[in-house]
Amino acid sequence: TPSIVWLRRDLRLSDNPALTAACARGGLVIVVFIHDDSVAQLGAAPKWRLGLSLGDLADSLTAKGSRLILRSGDACDVLLDLIEETGAEAVHWSRLYDPEAIARDSAIKSALKERGVEVESHNAHLLFEPWTVETQQGGFYKVYTPMWRAVKDRDVPAPESTPQRIPAPEAWPESERLEDWRLGAAMQRGAEVCLPHQCVGEAAAQGRLGAFVGGTIADYATARDLPAKPGTSGLSENLTYGEISARQCWHAGLHALHEGRGGAETWLKEFVWREFAYHLIYHTPRIASGNWREEWDAFPWNEDAARPEVIAWKQGRTGVPFVDAAMREMYVTGTMHNRARMIVASYLTKHLMTHWKIGLEWFADCLTDWDPASNAMGWQWAAGCGPDAAPYFRVFNPETQLHKFDPEGVYIRRWIAEGTRSPSETALSYFDAIPRAWGLSPQDRYPAPVVGLKEGRERALAAYQARGF
Ligand code: FAD
Repeated sequence: TPSIVWLRRDLRLSDNPALTAACARGGLVIVVFIHDDSVAQLGAAPKWRLGLSLGDLADSLTAKGSRLILRSGDACDVLLDLIEETGAEAVHWSRLYDPEAIARDSAIKSALKERGVEVESHNAHLLFEPWTVETQQGGFYKVYTPMWRAVKDRDVPAPESTPQRIPAPEAWPESERLEDWRLGAAMQRGAEVCLPHQCVGEAAAQGRLGAFVGGTIADYATARDLPAKPGTSGLSENLTYGEISARQCWHAGLHALHEGRGGAETWLKEFVWREFAYHLIYHTPRIASGNWREEWDAFPWNEDAARPEVIAWKQGRTGVPFVDAAMREMYVTGTMHNRARMIVASYLTKHLMTHWKIGLEWFADCLTDWDPASNAMGWQWAAGCGPDAAPYFRVFNPETQLHKFDPEGVYIRRWIAEGTRSPSETALSYFDAIPRAWGLSPQDRYPAPVVGLKEGRERALAAYQARGF
């Protein structure tokens, strides 16, 4: 009898326990992806990027004599329909940890079980599931370093290989067409400008991991802070859609560590920030939507997203080169260097005193590596209202940061065209990517700062002190 594998953020064939378990049952296997509300609600760039990933996965399944069945609608209804059509007796999926996914999956599990369908969920997304990591007092971790110490020497199961065969039915259930989903429809930007910056699919992700642990990782400890250098792995994009598994990355990192490659331990340590983000979103789901430290509800964040300075921030026109370069990098490539993320987030929440949610939402619309847990943790960290956060009085100075991390201005020249005689191709590509309605041109004058760096900093600190923080 057939089993169904419902893929969500695990778009790969290797180290995919849901797929392996379904194949191991010995019956036929039907692999489905469902366009439900969680897909409909994705921001423009992650939704577009999801479409690329699904296209790649469909090809890989076809090469294995299988197929990717696409259906849209309420996930429970879709699964019930498929069960009826195929006579499937079991459904497998990989667990997710954000509050909406947990609520949906629990309800589906009960509904399927009531009808006598077996449901098995698996861990394919994390190294250490949130409930398996506890403080000595039996609670969850609110600070990263002790969590790192608690998990760093744990055994992580070795990754599973791709199933040899994915037993296929003679007649396939009907599938919708990926093109008809128009997952790129909300990309107002020129998708063709963004496309060359994507590294799509399982094979590409494996290639990227191999190149990183075999080379770049050696200098990671210092190069990871330099936005002009390809000094990090770039794997967040692939981890977001599950084109690669956390375990595959972890074991490759451990191997590099055992081979004595400098940087490997720092990388493994950074990797555990992702685990920490999931630990937090599981144990305190409010991190995704409200101030993690509730006393921050009294802070006078400005929540008006239509203010000219917020629009300037989104469009990379604040007049602060590091901030503008980073915002343009994100718009064109779908990603942004980690140091730059910290700087633009600090600038928006502190210099512009804007509610972090406005930044979080813009990132959710623009990042092809958008991740509900890491994005929420990153924003609350930068704003000062999250767990283990940068204190509010620590206001990044984008100019000092520039001197330290981009002393030769390579990153700035890569992304800013205005005011330069021969702008770089990447800087010009921003103007091909943005909607015409923004009315911007590389011949414009580079804008004056929307707020003086000193003035913005003092204003933020005064508001902070006035509230008795
Ligand atoms: P590498 O340096 O190669 O690190 C390897 C992996 O470790 C990353 O792919 C990522 O999965 C994990 N990792 C590293 N640093 C962090 C971190 N600080 N937090 C969580 N995981 C980390 N990351 C996302 O994946 N999606 C997001 O939506 C996201 N939003 C962010 C928003 C803000 C305001 C900030 C400050 C950070 C955000 N991050 C987010 C974290 C971080 O910037 C990216 O994970 C990192 O830039 C990815 O680059 P990389 O894959 O080359 O990382």
